[in-house]
Amino acid sequence: QCFCQLSGVIDDCCCSIEDVNRLNEHVAPLVTRLAESDFFKYYRVNMDRPCKFWRQELAECGSNRCSVEPCDENEVPERLRALDQDPSAFECVMGDMTELGQLRDTVSADQAEQVAGWHVHTDSYCFQDDENSATLHYVNLVDNPERFTGYSGRSPAQIWKAIYGENCFHLYSHLDNPHLFDRPDDASAKFLTSKVVAGMCMEKRVFYRIVSGLHAAINMHVAAHYPRESILGQESWGPNVTLFERFFHPAKTWGEGPNWLKNIYFNYLLVVRAITKASSLWEAERFYTHNSEQDEEVAAIVKELIDSAPRTCPSTFDESLMFNGPESLELKQEFQTKFQNISLIMDCVECSTCRLWGKLKVHGLAAAMRILFADDSATLVLSRNEVVALFNTLAQFSQAIEEINTFRQLSDSNIMDS
Ligand code: FAD
Repeated sequence: QCFCQLSGVIDDCCCSIEDVNRLNEHVAPLVTRLAESDFFKYYRVNMDRPCKFWRQELAECGSNRCSVEPCDENEVPERLRALDQDPSAFECVMGDMTELGQLRDTVSADQAEQVAGWHVHTDSYCFQDDENSATLHYVNLVDNPERFTGYSGRSPAQIWKAIYGENCFHLYSHLDNPHLFDRPDDASAKFLTSKVVAGMCMEKRVFYRIVSGLHAAINMHVAAHYPRESILGQESWGPNVTLFERFFHPAKTWGEGPNWLKNIYFNYLLVVRAITKASSLWEAERFYTHNSEQDEEVAAIVKELIDSAPRTCPSTFDESLMFNGPESLELKQEFQTKFQNISLIMDCVECSTCRLWGKLKVHGLAAAMRILFADDSATLVLSRNEVVALFNTLAQFSQAIEEINTFRQLSDSNIMDS
């Protein structure tokens, strides 16, 4: 049996791997279709924000697989451009969310801080450029898929180390090991094992799982979309078993690879929970382009998505268990600051394709957290861009789950070590 044959309960969630696989069979084609639609494929991003944490030797990796071209604004439907110029058009009042508890709007124009030209909502979990800023450019996500780019070595190692080491509740600080990320062959390698995670409080466990699941989903895509020999001059992409094993095989990850894969499932459920919790937002007509035949289809798909999750997995993630203890206020602020820092670390990724998808997923997870962890008011302001990031993030986790199952099938056909 493949090490990637996962089963059982997903820690800190309420349903099982089997439930999620079943749910995802239904959800995957829906979110894929959404991600291809005009509303969801144009994402606005500042790809040139400087790295705040260290001096970069190279601003960009040399590989042409890393490059991302901003798209011509005329390609973007006029209605979307108009909405993006008017962030107040997306002030969505969360209506009938009674069964979900009250959501508090901690954001208002006068509360929002202005930090070095960046617009930071007080309840935001990530740093974003001001929606009206000229630094934001449209990128067509469909034209720039996440896949193997060859980005490896010192730069990504430094990024992951900064994320886990300094921005993950000092998870590793007690493990005095300077070679944490060295993949040593000897068994003395120490890092955060699932046993250590299990001993932490729920908030810290959740934070770790979010980051580890994000990391695992990125590496999953890298292993699943690896260049093959070009056919008639066209580059083609497919699964690379060696890379998959390097990233996740227990023998190569000190036994942790399968837990990292499980964290993809965790993130999937977290985002599904946020999207279903905010279901009244998605019913608003203004979320669609108004100038495309796709609008009706998009609305129907979003509705189907929201209806299908509770059918298969009635209780996806229970955020009400978090931030309840005596130190919850400090813990929540720390949680928020650390995730904001991770959003800034994404500026330091020296490969544009990787930076684009890293930023988008962090943005999407941050949007999910705003929905989940808002306190008690009935309104929440989400920008179109946040909505785009949120649904695309779900699409990415959904695809990663499909990819795990593809590798499992490859293993069943004896292509892979068990
Ligand atoms: P890394 O993935 O660099 O991992 C470093 C260490 O982290 C491991 O040795 C292990 O100790 C620990 N670790 C690994 N996975 C997990 C996990 N899931 N949970 C907890 N701990 C873990 N490459 C591309 O080809 N295309 C991309 O689009 C791409 N996007 C990226 C986006 C970002 C934001 C970053 C930082 C990197 C990206 N990369 C991308 C690079 C890729 O993630 C790897 O860093 C690279 O392939 C080198 O892999 P590695 O085997 O050295 O281990």
